[in-house]
Amino acid sequence: MLHSVTLQAPAKVNYRLDVVGRRPDGYHDLRMIMQQVNLCDEITISRSVTPGIRVSCGAAHVPDGEENIAWKAARALLELSGADTGIEVHITKRIPVAAGLGGGSSDCATVLQGLNDLLELGLSRERLMEIGVRLGADVPFFLFGTTARAEGIGELLTPLAAIPSLWVVLVNPNVPVSTAWVYRNLQLTRKEPLAKLPDSFDDVAALCAVLSNDLESVTIPAFPVIGEIKELLRSLGAAAAMMSGSGPTVFGLFVEEAAARAAADAIGHQQPGWFAVAVETL
Ligand code: ATP
Repeated sequence: MLHSVTLQAPAKVNYRLDVVGRRPDGYHDLRMIMQQVNLCDEITISRSVTPGIRVSCGAAHVPDGEENIAWKAARALLELSGADTGIEVHITKRIPVAAGLGGGSSDCATVLQGLNDLLELGLSRERLMEIGVRLGADVPFFLFGTTARAEGIGELLTPLAAIPSLWVVLVNPNVPVSTAWVYRNLQLTRKEPLAKLPDSFDDVAALCAVLSNDLESVTIPAFPVIGEIKELLRSLGAAAAMMSGSGPTVFGLFVEEAAARAAADAIGHQQPGWFAVAVETL
């Protein structure tokens, strides 16, 4: 039996985010196209003879202990399994926090998967997704493991048959944007039913044509820097640029690695206080 596992928890971007409607339970029905990208938190999960669950991270704005979503994931699986072992989780944070990149949800999914293996629980992916959606709406996507259309609150997932591999430049201006604040301030004004989205994207132009995020209507007026980053990425050669999730991170899509790296470097030099990296889609 393994004593410890170390896993990578990737970030995501939303190629598309449509808010379909508000639900009585306070959540929103969404329709999204979600893509994992190769910017990862590193998570080590170990058994311990000392009972209890301990989560350490040490990054700013990420709680240690019970408030961490990784702690909630560990408790859910320990309760279900009845195992009496202690669990230590250490997170090396690389994904910007509260940034629209899904870092907490990805950490949660990774702990569910990692503990399922470490404790040899044999739970199916579907079962882990049922447990995960109670902890965070984006958690099932990270367990799903492939680019997907996500509906409901994010738990109804359909794989996308073909999607181009790309370079993605992520730019975060380090202004805090709370997801709850964004949804509270969203005006649902769409009167027409949503047009159907394609199930596959054979080229970059087809993918760029569907890029859209309803939440920009809240964030860009309040944080004009988000619109400015979109312009900047386009001026540096991005095929398209869009805010991810509830922001404030903006991503630009590039076909060529060299152009993506040059854009990230240029933005990093211009704005040393921002986070700017070039990463590949997964
Ligand atoms: P969401 O849209 O779900 O808020 P996000 O990508 O914008 O996602 P996260 O980085 O997941 O934001 O963080 C959201 C909040 O969750 C933060 O305020 C943070 O304090 C809290 N949090 C709890 N556990 C974690 C974790 N493991 N990693 C990051 N944030 C965490």
